[in-house]
Amino acid sequence: MPTFKLLLLPGDGIGPEVMAEMKRVIAFLEARGLAAFAIEEDLVGGAAYDAHGKAISEAAMAKAKAADAVLFGAVGGPKWHKVPYEARPEAGLLRLRKDLGLFANLRPAICYPALADASSLKRELVEGLDIMIVRELTGGVYFGEPKTITDLGNGQKRAVDTQVYDTYEIERIARVAFELARRRRNKVTSMEKRNVMKSGVLWHEVVSEVHRREYKDVELEHQLADAGGMQLVRQPKQFDVIVTDNLFGDMLSDVAAMLTGSLGMLPSASLGEVDAKTKKRRALYEPVHGSAPDIAGTGQANPIAMIGSLAMALRYSFGLAETADLIDQAIAGVLAQGLRTADIRGEAKRTVGTAAMGDAIIAELERKSA
Ligand code: NAD
Repeated sequence: MPTFKLLLLPGDGIGPEVMAEMKRVIAFLEARGLAAFAIEEDLVGGAAYDAHGKAISEAAMAKAKAADAVLFGAVGGPKWHKVPYEARPEAGLLRLRKDLGLFANLRPAICYPALADASSLKRELVEGLDIMIVRELTGGVYFGEPKTITDLGNGQKRAVDTQVYDTYEIERIARVAFELARRRRNKVTSMEKRNVMKSGVLWHEVVSEVHRREYKDVELEHQLADAGGMQLVRQPKQFDVIVTDNLFGDMLSDVAAMLTGSLGMLPSASLGEVDAKTKKRRALYEPVHGSAPDIAGTGQANPIAMIGSLAMALRYSFGLAETADLIDQAIAGVLAQGLRTADIRGEAKRTVGTAAMGDAIIAELERKSA
């Protein structure tokens, strides 16, 4: 069995707390011979600032570049609100994304049947929901130049952001979406605004061309991003994989998140190019939530998003889909038994803390793999 190189970056606040439970799942997988890892750990965010005066050290960056996958907790908190802008905790995550070239952000929105009542939509609309939003992460209007505010001298100012995409950026994100769809329900919905944006015209053209050339076996549909947003709350189960740009993806993935109940449930992945030599893709896996300073240190954090992020690493970086399924089923199992952390309490009378949720997931893993 190959040994996969993991870099763990727990970060701040509840990051280390939820990662402690994920480490127990790693230990379980190793003890059962289901996976083998060479594990390193380092600081990121406020913790790295306290130790090194920057949000991630060069040594940690070198480890991240050498790793098969990075597992990231969360960063930030009131303690670091006044640190210099370039050393703020989030800068550590942005540096990782930039230097590892992580251009594809994968956000699954899964609604476990046991949690369907926690959604803001009716149970029948979301029960069993399983969609994947693929967001372009390194281009578009968040990075395009010029990006300025100019004083016009007449009491007015003018702000400019630039939405810019090159063909190769659209091609590579489209390929990620089509490849994912082939392993799922074989459907991709591409969203843009070609009716009012030139970048939307090119997006539509390039996605269609990649489909025609390389992925004819996958069903492709196009929706305007505003109509797509509406469909996402009207009839979310019509989607399998949604591929869209940085701005629309930012908004649509947050909308999709709310369909599923809680931030504490949502894992994510960010993928880079396939390395020509090693044939491996750079990858970082992290929960969608932040460092939750309001509950940090109280033992209440839900570890499921972090453990789900490990499952995504097994599936997308290591080709261990069956083991990933085992973890996902263990999570569904504990939810079906009625276990709830405070964030997903719903009508539940009793809630459990971080460690007890970890215990229950390990027990369920043991039962399911016995
Ligand atoms: P947050 O996600 O940390 O918390 C939002 C709310 O959800 C809080 O009430 C929190 O208690 C709750 N919550 C989040 N995760 C939870 C979990 N696993 N279990 C139970 N409850 C959970 O977002 P925020 O409050 O806007 O930000 C707090 C800090 O985190 C800020 O410094 C922000 O910059 C940072 N942040 C970091 C990341 C990241 O590291 N990727 C992402 C978002 C925010």
